[in-house]
Amino acid sequence: MTEGIVIVGAGHCGVSAAHGARMAGYRGRITLIGDDTQLPYERPPLSKWDADGPPLRPIFPDDWYQSHDIDLRRATQVTSIDRNTQLVTLSTNETLPYAKLLLATGAAPRRLPADALNDAQPRYLRSYSDALTLARNISAGADVLIIGGGFIGLELAACLSARKAFVHVVEAHDRILARAVPLEISQMVQQLHADRGVSIHTATSVTTIEDNVAFLSSEQGVRAEHVIIGIGSAPITYLADQAGLKVENGIVVDERFATQEPNIFAAGDCCNVPVAGEARARFESWQVAADQGFRAGQAMAGITPDPAPPPWFWSDQFDHTLQVVGTRMGQASHILRPLAGGGAIALETDSNGHITYAAGFAHGNAVGRDIKIIQKLMEAGVTPDPAALADPKTPLKTILRQR
Ligand code: NAP
Repeated sequence: MTEGIVIVGAGHCGVSAAHGARMAGYRGRITLIGDDTQLPYERPPLSKWDADGPPLRPIFPDDWYQSHDIDLRRATQVTSIDRNTQLVTLSTNETLPYAKLLLATGAAPRRLPADALNDAQPRYLRSYSDALTLARNISAGADVLIIGGGFIGLELAACLSARKAFVHVVEAHDRILARAVPLEISQMVQQLHADRGVSIHTATSVTTIEDNVAFLSSEQGVRAEHVIIGIGSAPITYLADQAGLKVENGIVVDERFATQEPNIFAAGDCCNVPVAGEARARFESWQVAADQGFRAGQAMAGITPDPAPPPWFWSDQFDHTLQVVGTRMGQASHILRPLAGGGAIALETDSNGHITYAAGFAHGNAVGRDIKIIQKLMEAGVTPDPAALADPKTPLKTILRQR
């Protein structure tokens, strides 16, 4: 019988899968293949810079891979999968057999059609090398146009504006972060950016860019010496497509991350997983990628994966933090809980009164503890009184104790 696990993609999901398989007691060969030249690193800091620019933070030190007997292949791509012979071919022309194969290929930035950009040379952010190029090329006083008011756009706007660049953000939707957070939170984030000198243009698109000037659909022209695009991402599925696996907004997997081919698994941003009931979802978040990778590793090692925690993510912008837990699913009710020191948490509940989602935004990490307690309320399946949730004088801890 063929031995070994091959993992395609050495981002957080792929590394966590190798970890999950080893922690589940898997003793066979594990090969982890990634196209980046660096030791696998954390992606969140790529758009949350410190004073020196984007920090390079390895997920694990070099010797972790040796001590866990994981064969890490850097600067290498898998070019094809043969399902019949259970072999993958690498860009080095080597072939590797697998007993279990995991696709942890992630997602790539959506590209803006070149005709809208005319003579501009836009930059995208996915890798450490992309982040370093941005930081090295954009200095104080530069005019920066960011297309897309999502997480990449806003986090980079905060980093670059803190470095004294002049930043315009153009968002097609009528508000920033429209898919991720409720209206009140969008408005608070937008106000913070306005207070710190970032110009945000909502319900606007870029018509053309000529001689470092971008013409907007509002008929305004803004200086655009540098153009950065953050208009969302798309799952990387070409290996799955080529292998004839089912792909529908990501590689379709079951609750154990197996595709329709029982020896091939997929996890992280590239996969589409079952969620509540009949529903399916594709997540794009650091925590979900790490969690799904770890659980896919458990599944490949032959044990039942741990239950999935509620999805969670955070975003740092200037000196404020946004934290989100749960999933937006057409809520039955919406509750706003103002915070004593400024900022707020917006919560959503289903028709039975269970909390399904919460997004908090405040200075520093003021929302961190509350979001953790809300996660516990969600996991405990309690149905708190909406008036108590909305009242900042009722500590969330008290609601948790009363469950
Ligand atoms: P994103 O968060 O999905 O935001 C993209 C934004 O661009 C959306 O508001 C989108 O509007 C808008 N847009 C789309 N086409 C546009 C156009 N032609 N002109 C202007 N605006 C346009 O995606 P992202 O910021 O590119 O980030 C990529 C991925 O990395 C996402 O999955 C994101 O969650 C992840 N990321 C996460 C974090 C974090 O968790 N802190 C940080 C960085 C990146 P519509 O929604 O209407 O399409």
